[in-house]
Amino acid sequence: MEYIKLNNGNTVPKVFFGTYRIHDNDDVTDVIRDAYDAGYRAFDSASYYRNERELRDAFETLGIRDEVTVTSKAWTDADTYDKVVEQFNESRRELGQVDIYMLHWPMYDFKDRWRALEDLYLDGQIKNIAVANFKKHHLEELLSFARVRPVIDQIEAHAYLMDYDTISFCHENDIAVQAWRPLMRTGPMLSNTEILKVAEKHGKTVAQVCLRFLLQKDVCIVPKSTKAYRMKENISLFDFELDAEDMAFMESLNVGFRTADDPDNFPRR
Ligand code: NDP
Repeated sequence: MEYIKLNNGNTVPKVFFGTYRIHDNDDVTDVIRDAYDAGYRAFDSASYYRNERELRDAFETLGIRDEVTVTSKAWTDADTYDKVVEQFNESRRELGQVDIYMLHWPMYDFKDRWRALEDLYLDGQIKNIAVANFKKHHLEELLSFARVRPVIDQIEAHAYLMDYDTISFCHENDIAVQAWRPLMRTGPMLSNTEILKVAEKHGKTVAQVCLRFLLQKDVCIVPKSTKAYRMKENISLFDFELDAEDMAFMESLNVGFRTADDPDNFPRR
């Protein structure tokens, strides 16, 4: 595993394990055990995922609570300062720990919502505060009043959607970029026969090439799988390197394809 140093000096793994839709239909403890055995030490959750209590139970059952970093996020119903604080407290109660807390979407007026995270941070209640789905213009606005810079912006990113305006802005301002849905939740990218040729050249899978591409763009990743062999595949990314030709090809796939809402239109009113 490689690590990234955040702008507040803290360090986190470049690969987090995604837990969206991992809840009581799956045996959460088995999934987390497999992920831990594969090498994941950081887990991405949110109050919206409705799995915080199950994750806590899994960490405690497996005795790994002190070893893991956990992200949670304030959902869109937390639309005031007080509601953000309330939702943070609920997530912390459910998860037992929150190491990184994010605003899940740049909805409405996020000035007060960010102020809530800053106060929690300055009060020592949370070690890292961050945002998700903020585009460049949202970040510009945020930085115009922020007392504390977000450590991470978690955005949808994969070879078919590279928002370089936002990614470059983050890099210039020392905000780590984390890609959610880095595998496009399967979809056309994983069946692309041209990416398969690159994968065969390196003796890797298409998924590994897609994830490695993001890492080489200085974009951290949050892949999710319920299958142990894929969990291993998605984290075995540090023993090969895409060359300039591979990178140019992967860059050429960017068509701005979103699998979910554009942050400018979410939540729909
Ligand atoms: P991913 O892009 O991680 O894709 C997951 C899907 O791909 C699953 O169906 C999985 O199936 C399959 N898969 C995983 N690995 C492989 C592989 N190596 N080869 C082929 N198929 C594979 O999608 P997610 O939507 O889960 O996104 C990842 C994480 O990002 C989420 O879990 C969540 O934590 C975060 N997220 C954040 C958002 C935000 O707004 N901040 C929004 C959405 C997601 P299987 O389980 O059967 O292996």
